[in-house]
Amino acid sequence: TTPQIGLIGLGTMGAALALNIAEKGFPIAVWNRTAQVTQDFHAAAGDLAGRITPTATLADLVAAISPPRSIILMVPAGPAVDEQVAALSALLGPDDLVIDAGNANFHDTNRRNAAGLPFRFMGIGVSGGEEGARHGPAIMAGGASADWARMAPVLQAIAARAEDGTPCADHMGPAGAGHFVKSVHNGIEYADMQMIAEVYGVMRDGLGMDAPAIGTTFARWNEGTLRSYLVEISGIVAQAKDAASGGPLLDVILDAAGQKGTGRWTVIEAQNLAAPIPVIEAAVMARNVSSRVAERAAGEAVFGPGPEPVTGLSTGDLEQALIAGKILCYAQGFAMMSAAGGEFGWALDMPAIARVWRAGCIIRSAMLNDMAEALAEDPGRNLMLAPFFADHLRLSLPALRKVVAAGALHGLSCPALAFGLAWFDAMRTARGTANMIQAQRDFFGLHGFKRLDGLDLPHGPWAKG
Ligand code: NDP
Repeated sequence: TTPQIGLIGLGTMGAALALNIAEKGFPIAVWNRTAQVTQDFHAAAGDLAGRITPTATLADLVAAISPPRSIILMVPAGPAVDEQVAALSALLGPDDLVIDAGNANFHDTNRRNAAGLPFRFMGIGVSGGEEGARHGPAIMAGGASADWARMAPVLQAIAARAEDGTPCADHMGPAGAGHFVKSVHNGIEYADMQMIAEVYGVMRDGLGMDAPAIGTTFARWNEGTLRSYLVEISGIVAQAKDAASGGPLLDVILDAAGQKGTGRWTVIEAQNLAAPIPVIEAAVMARNVSSRVAERAAGEAVFGPGPEPVTGLSTGDLEQALIAGKILCYAQGFAMMSAAGGEFGWALDMPAIARVWRAGCIIRSAMLNDMAEALAEDPGRNLMLAPFFADHLRLSLPALRKVVAAGALHGLSCPALAFGLAWFDAMRTARGTANMIQAQRDFFGLHGFKRLDGLDLPHGPWAKG
């Protein structure tokens, strides 16, 4: 059988995705810029090699696929995608479909869609790392409905399945919608990881717990409301031993976090949309601060010692604080996606997004089942107002206040939890403080203000004439 699918880029993700596609019964032709990689990949494909056609040039790849062709691109986001799109333009026709499955910036995907390419084009977000790509990722697809319909049998076959058996692959909307939802996913991933790191820090520096004890605490939390991939792996990594030192691995890892920029894109977009996502913003900020290793050491030399021990705080408080922080973070993320849907004219389906994130992706968690249900009840309502999550928040908020207060008093930096709490308090205060800002703006710039009594007197006594 001649493949109808091709794949370009046999790196970590592409190789795993190609094997997954072949395993699900779809013959596939593959090509990689460095030819040896293609040979090695095919040689190592074992039982699946018969369904995989290795090709030596891009023209060979196109010739090996029967039209209408669907070709998945799994190369680094940015110029490499543009290069491949340009090269394919000379080889493909109007019924062929190119699917960019890398972590593209959704503005690039919109641009490529609008560029009048000689073939059809989709952008899909794939999450789950190498393991997900090989055995079942979450897939957030963007593109024309007809193209989604064409690819859905393949994408749903290779995707992870939620506990109820639904494939975690869905159509998010046109053009860049899939890559947009993937970038919000990554922003939330940054935030989930940061909040876990913050409670880890309170346990380590505030409560004086060692890494194995922290690991068993995470493992215990993973049995409850916080059950999720990231809490699970945090338990595993905290309990891991280092072969070189014989001590905990965590204790020998440099505290400077890397990033490829997808979290930053989400924050920039949130600012453009005037859609507050402070927990994610704090997470991106914290990664940037973490990389300033020498400056932090200089800061400690002047203002140290660093964090102080904390009393009166339990790991149970930290578990509840993490639950509250997580609900607030997701409430912000979904609200941002609602704002984007309105701005870009996409009918983003919030419950469908929560359902896609239930399995396969890095942020998969038990809570996403409940979020999908709460969003299905009323997709336009802020998630924190859904009765199920409002009840959770009423229970967990006192612990979040305690943890943030302890952090502030004892020098334990917990920006994501603190930003989440500040946002929550602003969002549950009917009479805020921006009346002061409006008065100031009117004083120096005569910007005017609305009055609570409805009178048409838009300026203060400083306005002359
Ligand atoms: P790798 O670095 O492992 O592989 C990159 C692949 O792209 C290689 O096959 C490389 O070929 C090829 N390539 C690089 N530049 C070009 C070019 N100019 N033209 C043609 N081919 C090129 O990357 P990953 O597999 O990790 O990532 C691929 C995409 O998937 C990225 O967009 C990434 O952000 C995204 N992604 C990655 C995840 C992960 O966990 N790693 C998770 C989700 C998405 P060669 O062998 O010749 O160098």
